[in-house]
Amino acid sequence: MTTAVPDLADIEIRDPATDEVVGCVRPAGPEQVDDAVGRAVAAGAAWARTSPADRAGAVKDAAAAVRAVAEELARLNESETGRPYDDALGGALAAAGTLEQYAELGPLHRGRSLQGNWSATDLMVPGPRGVVAAITPWNDPVAVAAGLIGAALVTGNTVVHKPSERSPHVGRRFADLVASFLPDGVLTVLDGAGPTGALLSAHAAVDVVAHVGSIAAGRAIAEAAAGTGAKVLLENGGNDPLIVDDGVDPVWAAGQAALGSYANGGQVCVSVERIYCHAGVADEFLAALAEEATRWVYRPSAEGEKALGPLVDRRQREHVHAHVAEALQGGAVAHVGGAVPDGAGAFYPATVLSGLTPQMRIVREETFGPVAPVRVVDSFEQGLAEAVDDPHGLAATVLTPDMAHAQEAWRALRVGTVKVNAVFGGAPGGAAEPRGLSGTGFGYGPELLDEMTATKTVHVEPCPPRHRP
Ligand code: NAD
Repeated sequence: MTTAVPDLADIEIRDPATDEVVGCVRPAGPEQVDDAVGRAVAAGAAWARTSPADRAGAVKDAAAAVRAVAEELARLNESETGRPYDDALGGALAAAGTLEQYAELGPLHRGRSLQGNWSATDLMVPGPRGVVAAITPWNDPVAVAAGLIGAALVTGNTVVHKPSERSPHVGRRFADLVASFLPDGVLTVLDGAGPTGALLSAHAAVDVVAHVGSIAAGRAIAEAAAGTGAKVLLENGGNDPLIVDDGVDPVWAAGQAALGSYANGGQVCVSVERIYCHAGVADEFLAALAEEATRWVYRPSAEGEKALGPLVDRRQREHVHAHVAEALQGGAVAHVGGAVPDGAGAFYPATVLSGLTPQMRIVREETFGPVAPVRVVDSFEQGLAEAVDDPHGLAATVLTPDMAHAQEAWRALRVGTVKVNAVFGGAPGGAAEPRGLSGTGFGYGPELLDEMTATKTVHVEPCPPRHRP
């Protein structure tokens, strides 16, 4: 059973650097969704019985194939979303690495035995949940899909995958390649946008909906799953703060702020979205940040320049500029950027704003563009209080030479990930639970294997001897 009347018009994909059409997909409707889920159900029993080592072997072979076509995936990714080629290549290679990791971890995933009566056996046994709907975004399309799909497959689930309608060709190329190493029906790909995703997430035979994307879509998915009983994993957007404390080197801090705000055009789930800078370093920090912003350019050619691609499309550029324009109308100052450029594509310049109020949308909501909005605060405590006063809960960064401040901050921030003195980074094996509007559950790392399995407790007692009169 599926919900009804989706908008299923063909979806045209344009290269956001040139506006040229680079492809078109026909969204899957109710029948195709039913068919894909039905095939996943049919394939489920045999895949669940396949030994973990054999499942892992298939995923490992798929990883090698993904690695072999990483350059092709990167070119597709660049043409559909404007992501600079080197970044896109990094994403494709990360996807292969993620599949390899889950292939290693899958057979090691284990349950527990319990201490009951001497004669009894008590176990907690993880088992596959069934059919996983993996619904993913465009901003790191291959790596994000690889995480959900890899963890679901090695734990014995079957998968119906719907990549983003803004990156459908790279999504399909990747998933079809992985599927070619699996029995029929174990991994199926569906084209389409929100309406197809809605059909999939409301399908009665789907057991887990794993979604990475916007808060609005995550909310719709949670509502749909409440009606079917499916488990929901949500890795939604954030509004990550960066706190710049007194006493830091302002030029170094500006470099960190620029990296966090402008990498992938600010279209990273853990991009820096708002900056609270201590008044003691604010003038030097703002001057250095404005200078640093001018080094983020479309085609880097000089020493020290960094790649800033276009935004994913003009719709996203309108969203970003609406936040900036509202701030400027409200009295904010653009130190650099802040204007929509002429010409083809969905380009937007690296922008630095100050003079913001806490009520502005650019401070309160995810902008997802190359904008560094700076609020100058009188104390570390004020910066931390404003950073905490927000319903999102993905990640946060603190730049401080004061370890007591760092300690205070990482305990107070209600987010999944806190970084101290580095805007990006983290050890392998790290995993976090987003808080608040940013979602629920472990969306990556070894703990994703727990999310993809249901634990059954089993109590076994010996059968007493038959009584013979
Ligand atoms: P989006 O929510 O618009 O789309 C993501 C996926 O959900 C797409 O496949 C889309 O078709 C589907 N979808 C949309 N509406 C749906 C509905 N009602 N029911 C079911 N599926 C639906 O997000 P996006 O614009 O593709 O991605 C950008 C967002 O993703 C940003 O907010 C970003 O922060 C977030 N993101 C979060 C993480 C994380 O780990 N937390 C990682 C990457 C991106």
